[in-house]
Amino acid sequence: MNKNQNLSKKVVLYTTVIVGLMVVLVVVNQLSTKKEQVQSFDDRPSIEGQPTLGSPNAKVSVVEFGDYKCPACKAWSEQYFPRLKQDYIDTGKISFSFVNAMFHGGESRLAAMAAESVFAQDSQAFWTFNDELFKAQPEADHDAAWITTDKLLEIAEAHTPQIDRDKLLEDINNQTFLPQHEADNALIEKFNVEQTPTIIINGIKLSDPFDYEKIKEMIEEQLKEG
Ligand code: CA
Repeated sequence: MNKNQNLSKKVVLYTTVIVGLMVVLVVVNQLSTKKEQVQSFDDRPSIEGQPTLGSPNAKVSVVEFGDYKCPACKAWSEQYFPRLKQDYIDTGKISFSFVNAMFHGGESRLAAMAAESVFAQDSQAFWTFNDELFKAQPEADHDAAWITTDKLLEIAEAHTPQIDRDKLLEDINNQTFLPQHEADNALIEKFNVEQTPTIIINGIKLSDPFDYEKIKEMIEEQLKEG
């Protein structure tokens, strides 16, 4: 073997080692990206005092942090919630709770205040009111102001006639449910909720609430766990 052959052998060897290292790096990087799809906490968010469908003692709790002013929440509510309801809530497998995340200022807080009042009056009416609020959110130009006290009263009157309108108005004006907002904000802080909607399945926070396959996978995993 002459000097040149020896050198080219070395080049091949080094190249192989470098390419090999690069492959390992890419794989490790992909694995860590995959890991970031979820963030785990030691416990699940407390759903005490939160609107909840299904048994509060269900093995798997799914909590949505949502904002009536947020367009992604409207999309989630209209396109993903019905699937989740059909697959897991109506079948009694999970509990589903809604926590107000008031990330869009005064309109978010106003709608959340009304929703808490409706919930306090009639826990079932809350879910109708919740659906109707998201439906009422304009498809286009959602930044334009649309949540007003009059609009909230109008939605309640049209879709949840069992709600006492005067009581609702009083609760909005007096901010009766401010302590509930503080409880919601405490959960947001504890679970480091930074975007809406955020979905937490037991103690696992998903980074992409629009990946329904991932939601299913996480629920199935939690249902299986002893
Ligand atoms: Ca709440």
